[in-house]
Amino acid sequence: MPPSRTGNASVASSGSETHERKHLMSTTHDVINPATEEVVTTLDLVGVEETDAAIAKAVEVGPAWRAVSPADRGMLLRRFADVVEEHTEELARLEVTNSGHTIGNARWEAGNVVNVLRYYSAAPERLFGRQIPVAGGLDVTFKEPLGVVSVIVPWNFPMPIAGWGFAPALAAGNTVVLKPAELTPLTAIRLGELALQAGLPEGVFTILPGKGSVVGERFVTHPDVRKVCFTGSTAVGQGIMRKAADQLKRVTLELGGKSANIVFADADVEKAAASAPMSFLDNAGQDCCARTRILVQRKVYDAFMERFEAAIRAVRVGDPGDESTEMGPMVSSGQRDTVRSFVEDAEATGHAAPDIAFRGSAPEGKGWWYPPTVLMAHGTDDRAWREEIFGPVVSVMPFDDEADAIAKANDTAYGLSGSIWTRDVGRAIRVSRAVEAGNLSVNSHSSVRYSTPFGGFKASGIGRELGPDALDAFTETKNVFFDTQA
Ligand code: NAP
Ligand code: MG
Repeated sequence: MPPSRTGNASVASSGSETHERKHLMSTTHDVINPATEEVVTTLDLVGVEETDAAIAKAVEVGPAWRAVSPADRGMLLRRFADVVEEHTEELARLEVTNSGHTIGNARWEAGNVVNVLRYYSAAPERLFGRQIPVAGGLDVTFKEPLGVVSVIVPWNFPMPIAGWGFAPALAAGNTVVLKPAELTPLTAIRLGELALQAGLPEGVFTILPGKGSVVGERFVTHPDVRKVCFTGSTAVGQGIMRKAADQLKRVTLELGGKSANIVFADADVEKAAASAPMSFLDNAGQDCCARTRILVQRKVYDAFMERFEAAIRAVRVGDPGDESTEMGPMVSSGQRDTVRSFVEDAEATGHAAPDIAFRGSAPEGKGWWYPPTVLMAHGTDDRAWREEIFGPVVSVMPFDDEADAIAKANDTAYGLSGSIWTRDVGRAIRVSRAVEAGNLSVNSHSSVRYSTPFGGFKASGIGRELGPDALDAFTETKNVFFDTQA
């Protein structure tokens, strides 16, 4: 069991405030291990007053952070990356305990923070403006930091999604306040401590574990916060965008998904079927990129399903701390109830019962387990076909030809990712251009690389993270004309 964390270590500025801070704390939160249902630790949640104090501090230290030379800012971020790397195993174990992620995934997630920090550590020295030819003078553009940037992180990928916000934001010269999800705050709190250990000045990067309705809401309404970088549900994202309009506050929104996995008859069907399980079971299906709508060309439907069933039954679901486990528990009992409402409890919630094709296994007893579940879609109106379930449930549907596949893939409010399986190069190009989604992979299921842009079309979001262009989301372009006639 990790030691109890108050979570506000990086908020504190002086000892004399301790009593007052305690007084202002609204409530506490029990962090629960999803695999055992045991309480891991109890956190004091940050309230509005502490949030305001952290934002004030971020404003105060902003000019000094911005004045750090580009080389030194890059060096500090590389040092931060080194310190995170030294703590990879500790962070990974913390994520296994807090979130039920498999140890293999959790190590990748900590490593992703290291990679993202290193990638953007090169940015301060490469925040190039342009020199534009004009008459009568010199015209140059500058990439100016926004000021205080807020990052709101969901519970599904606590470390990577935090890093995708804070690393480019800090590199561009902003100060950052970050709210982890109430369910999964432990790794973010630790990252805040490691930042200080690496030498980032106090107040430049502050972790504020608290409720979305309190801390998250305050990020949106506080006039000194210039940007909200949000990942989570489409409904909350829409609310943030509405409220951000009052101050014309910048937003980046990474929202839900209902991505298609399209298998053409000319594909390597064996490989497509063998890889399909982990394309929606990774992180127990709690992944906005999960390929939860499988479209299979009718000619190979039976062959695909036969191999897919064998692959689903072979998935190892169990103790996330075990090196060989492929899928752990759901993050919370509430999330498992949501998943059940699409399957076992569909009729009780006023929907048609789905057709279960086959299922994998899951442990019994303590822990929020749910077995890999494959549904046969009746049609594109099925609730399980249309709505993001955010659990280990997939729906399968046959299609006739390329046009039918594209129409069915695009018949969704979302547009985050997707996969296309074909050996025909022309078809791969045509279909990848036609599918309305931000991140596609052909003959694989990869979505995320720190060096390439990530984000959604349609209701899956606004803006792009990662890659070379993410810095645009954390800077304003300033144009300056110098008159040379004088
Ligand atoms: P959520 O409510 O959108 O939460 C995401 C983050 O926003 C959390 O840090 C949350 O804080 C915060 N938040 C909640 N209400 C807020 C508000 N009014 N203002 C500012 N911040 C606010 O998502 P969820 O409830 O955890 O999950 C619900 C569904 O969202 C899932 O079932 C899934 O479909 C989708 N989801 C998508 C992603 C994704 O990666 N695109 C990630 C997570 C969830 P608290 O944790 O304290 O509430
Ligand atoms: Mg919520």
